[in-house]
Amino acid sequence: MSAPTEDAAKRPQADDSIRPQRLADFIGQGDVRSNLGVFIQAARERGKALDHTLFSGNPGLGKTTLAQIMASELGVNMVSTSGPVLERVGDLAAILTNLSRHDILFIDEIHRMPATVEEILYPAMEDYKIDLIIGQGPGARTVKIDLEPFTLVGATTRIGLLTSPLRDRFGCVFRLEFYSPEELSRIVLRAAGILGVTVTEEGAWAIGRRSRGTPRIAGRLLRRIRDYAVVQGSGVVDKRLAEESLDKLDVDPHGLDQMDRKILSLIVNQFGGGPVGVKTIAVACSEESRTIEDIYEPFLIQCGFIKRTPRGRVATAKAYQHLKMRLDAGDGS
Ligand code: ADP
Repeated sequence: MSAPTEDAAKRPQADDSIRPQRLADFIGQGDVRSNLGVFIQAARERGKALDHTLFSGNPGLGKTTLAQIMASELGVNMVSTSGPVLERVGDLAAILTNLSRHDILFIDEIHRMPATVEEILYPAMEDYKIDLIIGQGPGARTVKIDLEPFTLVGATTRIGLLTSPLRDRFGCVFRLEFYSPEELSRIVLRAAGILGVTVTEEGAWAIGRRSRGTPRIAGRLLRRIRDYAVVQGSGVVDKRLAEESLDKLDVDPHGLDQMDRKILSLIVNQFGGGPVGVKTIAVACSEESRTIEDIYEPFLIQCGFIKRTPRGRVATAKAYQHLKMRLDAGDGS
């Protein structure tokens, strides 16, 4: 793998040690896995570059992992970048012209690519060619550059923000869903094996249930709980140690953290249950609206704590019940 992006570099490196390298090691997302398996095998047998592929879904659900798996299954190199890093046409042109035959170009947060940069992707994706304008004013000329056949793999948390010309150029489009507690507990057991932590089945299930449907969070919680196991326990993560550690980490039985609960209690207590706009929620929580929309809201909607209406977000009866239970248990957050 080459050229890690700024965003990839921001992620904890530890993510990489537990990242599945093969499709067979990738847990969950059954439909995505089986379809991708077929497309990879077909591309291999035809000796052609795989169709351009788009993954959408919440952060931490496995988009980067699947792109890397595609590269390793196909035995090709993967070059990574991200939408916000590609500020100028020249940035993308330099990457495209350096790709080798059948390489994978992974663009994370592809919906955040500037329009001018996006435009040179169209002919690159369709005909493996780019048109570059050299020089300025009357002396400017267009140069056509041939590219090696490659596969663009785009990842986005917000498929709705992709322009239709770009979306239409992807041959395969996959949407990643939140994982079930059962899948997450298998992910925890697999990661524990790699990290050398002893976790019982029930311990893994306790972590899986509170991981917000997200493998990255399951991995992060496992690492923190491992610390508690080493310092306070026998070194084994069983149900009791997992639950006690999760309580200390302020992750509640639904997997909601402090910020999730802050959002719910704001809607309920400050805005009379809603409807309230996401920008207002963001200001009240001192968070960016994008973070609320990309990270917190999808899970709260999926669990049935809030509803999205044309006039804003509304707290459901389940949210009231959850907050009341926390209050009764003596937690003001
Ligand atoms: P995204 O690109 O969608 O933000 P990543 O692919 O970086 O998410 O995944 C985040 C972490 O979760 C990585 O450590 C990866 O190993 C792990 N992970 C994601 N999906 C799975 C899966 N299906 N099985 C096992 N581990 C997974």
